[in-house]
Amino acid sequence: MIVKNKIKSLYAPWRKKYILKETSKNSETPQNCPFCVVDKDLIVFETKKTMIKANKYPYSSGHLLVVPKRHINDLTKLTSKERKELFNLIDLSVYILDIYMKPEGYNIGCSVGSIAGESISHLHFHILPRFSGDVGWNRLGDFNVVCESPQETTKNLREIIIKEKLPKKFGVFSGK
Ligand SMILES: [Zn+2]
Repeated sequence: MIVKNKIKSLYAPWRKKYILKETSKNSETPQNCPFCVVDKDLIVFETKKTMIKANKYPYSSGHLLVVPKRHINDLTKLTSKERKELFNLIDLSVYILDIYMKPEGYNIGCSVGSIAGESISHLHFHILPRFSGDVGWNRLGDFNVVCESPQETTKNLREIIIKEKLPKKFGVFSGK
């Protein structure tokens, strides 16, 4: 275990598979794109056009992705409806993570183009909860301990959405 300024090393064995895989080459078409062919047990909430999913290879607990269902990798290709829903789902993600984990802040963003660090060429926004004592999100080895699986996170966040009746509050409607 690496200890730097009270920061423990990341325990996230599921990232090994991802790091070893050449995801950028493998995600060029919808048939082998992990956001077009999605694990159902990682979908936190979905509408007809967009979804919130737990990152299968999280940088830290509560790492969510907000994704349009269409295989596009450019913000300018979003329709106005997709754009509106995506930002409503980003709001919803922050709201449920606030209830679930009470983080002190967030990194919210996306990378467009491989030069910017895009690993999967399907537009996606990262929602990464931040706590004092952790470090920048591009220094994967220095993150705090991941203490639950993405499947557990998904299950617990789904329950919050239902219990709090949040789709109506955020103007989004579940659908496939
Ligand atoms: Zn895709």
